[in-house]
Amino acid sequence: MPDDAGLQALREAARLSPDNLPLRRHLAGQLLAKGYLADAEAEFRATLALSPQDPELITGLADAFIRQSAFGEAMAALEPLLSVPGYPPAAGVLAARALLGEGDTAKAAYRYFEATSRDASVADQELEARITGASRPATPPPHGAAGGSPTAPPAVAPPPYAGAPAPPGAASPFLPSVPLPGDASTAEVERSGVSFADVAGMETVKEALRIKLLLPMQQPEMFAAFGKRAGGGVLLYGPPGAGKTHLARAAAGELGAAFVNVGLADILDMYIGNSERNLRATFDLARRNRPCVLFFDEVDALAGRRSDMRHAHGRQLVNQFLSELDGVDQHANEGVLVLAATNAPWYVDVAFRRPGRLDQPVFVPPPDQQARAAILRILCRDKPLAEMDYDAVAQVTEHFVGADLKGVVDRAVEAKLQQSLNAGRPIPLTTQDLLAAARSVRPTAVREWMGTARNYVMHANDSGAWDELMPWVKAKW
Ligand code: ADP
Repeated sequence: MPDDAGLQALREAARLSPDNLPLRRHLAGQLLAKGYLADAEAEFRATLALSPQDPELITGLADAFIRQSAFGEAMAALEPLLSVPGYPPAAGVLAARALLGEGDTAKAAYRYFEATSRDASVADQELEARITGASRPATPPPHGAAGGSPTAPPAVAPPPYAGAPAPPGAASPFLPSVPLPGDASTAEVERSGVSFADVAGMETVKEALRIKLLLPMQQPEMFAAFGKRAGGGVLLYGPPGAGKTHLARAAAGELGAAFVNVGLADILDMYIGNSERNLRATFDLARRNRPCVLFFDEVDALAGRRSDMRHAHGRQLVNQFLSELDGVDQHANEGVLVLAATNAPWYVDVAFRRPGRLDQPVFVPPPDQQARAAILRILCRDKPLAEMDYDAVAQVTEHFVGADLKGVVDRAVEAKLQQSLNAGRPIPLTTQDLLAAARSVRPTAVREWMGTARNYVMHANDSGAWDELMPWVKAKW
């Protein structure tokens, strides 16, 4: 494709003024619009170095990736945007496109309908048809409920995720329930290979979990003597990547319990009643495998505030969740410890905070310098190592969370592996390798998360539920 004169002039202008953000953004957008995808990708990347959290640049880069079928890269680019509540709806639609490209229809549907319910103008008929078509059961449902004639256009059927109202005036988009083949939980039972020794820092959090979860299971007589019973759950909240999932898995290992890791795709289903059924099946799976830690990730999407929901279906799912937590009798959930994680605890319905439910919110903070050094030590411990100065790496990785540090170590190890393969012998990892990798990893948006948290804690801290966050949001980020 020959460069047109306008584009050439833009390229030249950008070369002469490399720090001119609006100009570079315009050039990147033009390259994308005209189909110079590799050039657009490079330009978006370079411009992001000038303005790292710029939503327009991030979505532009993701778009360039998607058009090159690099769906995983697109999701990685979008991650910092998607992790902040209230992210731009256009980013949600791009994420849906990337997820669909990766074959993850359930998550694609969730992102798409969440985004379009907030801003109907980002709807994309072609994408919507692909999502609803792909998530349709293979056999046409009975009663003619969801199918209609074979030539009928695909019905629009958002999943009953919680917390996001449908666009005003929209017809009820939910399809009647149809029994799906093998309608049961898709979550699986794991044996956790990690324990609290594998979780660096977070001593206060670990202590809170020990008292809440582990001691009643390990010393039931003592708790019985004081009239306390095991059970109930904990809501882990904090910025993405800070280690909530890792901590939950470690709690299961510490207890010698089975671990069931439940994602949104295991529960949410577009057909009325199926999400509730999936939820019940998931609790039953945990009950059959007790002692068990049942972990719900992104729980705000299953347990959102009912007052925010336009559709009764979302509220039904929340009610089902509450009644599963309560159990049919006081022994129903014995030996089942529910841990739930969210980046947006303020979206969780307050009913979950009642005794015996997710009654203890526990903040999982971003690691301080000492904790970062400890996380790095754990992440590197089974690698060939030279003498390491983890403190030096911790010092230059301010605002990095556990997931980012894992990214740094993975990147350094990859480079080292390549060198070792070329040399034909293992070359140990050095501090310099980690420092170089740290320079190339962009940390998760902890600062943005703290900004959002600050708004809630300062202005909507209902009954002081998020007091624990106060010192964190008041600190400088
Ligand atoms: P979240 O669930 O909060 O988004 P994860 O638990 O998925 O975060 O964290 C991502 C990865 O970061 C984990 O798999 C683990 O390897 C690493 N990690 C995070 N926190 C810690 C920690 N405190 N100690 C050791 N590794 C950690």
